[in-house]
Amino acid sequence: MNTAAWRTEIAPRLEALARSLETAGADALLVTKPANVRYLSRFSAPDDGAVLVVPGVGATLLTDSRYAAQAADEVGIPVEIVAGIDDAVVARLAGGRGRLAVEGDHVTVSRYRSLAERLGHEPALLGPVFSELRVIKSESELAALRRAAHLTDLAFTAATEVMAPGVSEVTVALVLERTMRQHGADGPAFSTIVASGVRGAMPHGVASNKPLAAGELVTLDFGAVVDGYHADMTRTVAIGQVGAEERRLYDAVLEAQEAALGAVAPGRTGREVDQVARDVLAKHGLEQQFTHSLGHGTGLVIHEEPRLSQKSDTVLRPGMVVTVEPGVYRAGFTGLRIEDLVVVTESGSEVLSKSPKAFLAL
Ligand code: ZN
Ligand code: ZN
Repeated sequence: MNTAAWRTEIAPRLEALARSLETAGADALLVTKPANVRYLSRFSAPDDGAVLVVPGVGATLLTDSRYAAQAADEVGIPVEIVAGIDDAVVARLAGGRGRLAVEGDHVTVSRYRSLAERLGHEPALLGPVFSELRVIKSESELAALRRAAHLTDLAFTAATEVMAPGVSEVTVALVLERTMRQHGADGPAFSTIVASGVRGAMPHGVASNKPLAAGELVTLDFGAVVDGYHADMTRTVAIGQVGAEERRLYDAVLEAQEAALGAVAPGRTGREVDQVARDVLAKHGLEQQFTHSLGHGTGLVIHEEPRLSQKSDTVLRPGMVVTVEPGVYRAGFTGLRIEDLVVVTESGSEVLSKSPKAFLAL
């Protein structure tokens, strides 16, 4: 995307921020939360930068000299190389030359106090405008997520080709991560989960040195990042022949997952979709073993709004992206989960994860 296209992409974001600043009684906004810095600038090292938004003037990325070449290459807004971000902001606004706003959910208390002292005023706190904006994905954000989901699918295929008794969970995780990187991913979306046998009862069982064994279920939960956007998918496969109970659990979770996927549509609440999966698992006597919520939004961070959970009143709207990931976990025995990445569309939903879900024994 060239600079002109980026300017068009972020115009509605800057307009929404300007309205929010007006409400907060502020003249400028210092954006420091990395995902929001990237959301306005495209800068891929947002931990080491900030964006100063001045309504009527525009948005400027502030970063240091280590990033001069990188910022010139990838950033879609004006860049200022500064020795210190807060020094630059203070130089612009101190002495009554306008009131600053900051993100209250990111700026530390000590940084806030220091800014207040140096500016001579208490910075205003920005409302929830970024999460309201980021919850609806633009076409270019959806394109990045589609690509990330595709690389995730490629990685799953590669993993199924090496999974066998004696191969360690870490080896499988490395195949997943290597495949995603080789096809152009920025990196893994989170610590890759490969949880085999009894370890499957840990919903976040990050890959260990445990070897896979015949007769086990193996849960793979992983995702690629493309242009900062995080995919997320889970598949559970069997190594050889598994017992009848493992197979029963698999069929129940798949039934719950597909029923919940079918319920994703504009106008439904996060709670309603979560309940669809819970009802299917209850029919199989497994509701107590589904110990987490059904799904979450994803984008510039792996877990973001909206939530599909028993507490979520959020009404789904076209352009929202969610995971649908029921699972069952039985300590000391096994566990499994099946997860797809889904976009809410005008007419229902589009599933971005394409890997097969039919029971697979390797
Ligand atoms: Zn996941
Ligand atoms: Zn997830």
